[in-house]
Amino acid sequence: MIIILFGPPGCGKGTQASIIAKENYYPHLSTGDMLREAVKFKTETGLIAAKIMEEGKLVSDDIVVNIIKDRIEQKDCENGFILDGFPRTIAQAKELDNMLLEKELLVNLVIEFSVNDEVLLNRIEGRFSCNDCGAGYNDHTRMPLKDGICDDCESSNFIRRKDDNKETASKRLESYNEETLPLLPYYKDKQVLFSIDGLADIKNVTNEIMSLIQK
Ligand code: AMP
Repeated sequence: MIIILFGPPGCGKGTQASIIAKENYYPHLSTGDMLREAVKFKTETGLIAAKIMEEGKLVSDDIVVNIIKDRIEQKDCENGFILDGFPRTIAQAKELDNMLLEKELLVNLVIEFSVNDEVLLNRIEGRFSCNDCGAGYNDHTRMPLKDGICDDCESSNFIRRKDDNKETASKRLESYNEETLPLLPYYKDKQVLFSIDGLADIKNVTNEIMSLIQK
């Protein structure tokens, strides 16, 4: 099954993608994570992407399409995968369809997380994660149970994303509204689009997604 989690930055799609990936044994493909990895290791792609990401703009379609093209060739994607943060433009969506067509596959499910901008900016600003195991936290909604210690791996090494500040977050929202939102009619026409309340409790959101997957 090929699932796209769709929504603005901070809507919770990354958190849900990792929960759903574990429950369904599908790999979680986040272009944002892959690009951050490339930036960290200063690869050719990383060097190009770093400034663009810091400005809250979109990296070129060619770069992200090639990243996804290579990734879905790997064996763990054979039975399906969950896309988080891709596609973000009509051109990317069309390229994805072409890649899948070659494998006689289609996008099965696009789940849109509906949320309002004010809540998003607050959420983004509060976000941080464990640098060792990747567990996600938030100043406003989910602090570690023991102050300064990760619930999952007991590390005290936390990080915040460089682009999780109010100014860059506003720019990322702008890119989403201008370049990514037009994808909704594209998937609506294909009758694979479902909308869920992204502001509901994490467990309720997971249950809603699971029931859409099982339909
Ligand atoms: P994310 O972690 O999904 O919020 O992505 C972080 C940043 O990576 C975005 O603000 C973009 O600069 C870049 N990025 C991630 N995915 C894409 C994509 N599909 N197309 C263009 N840029 C992307």
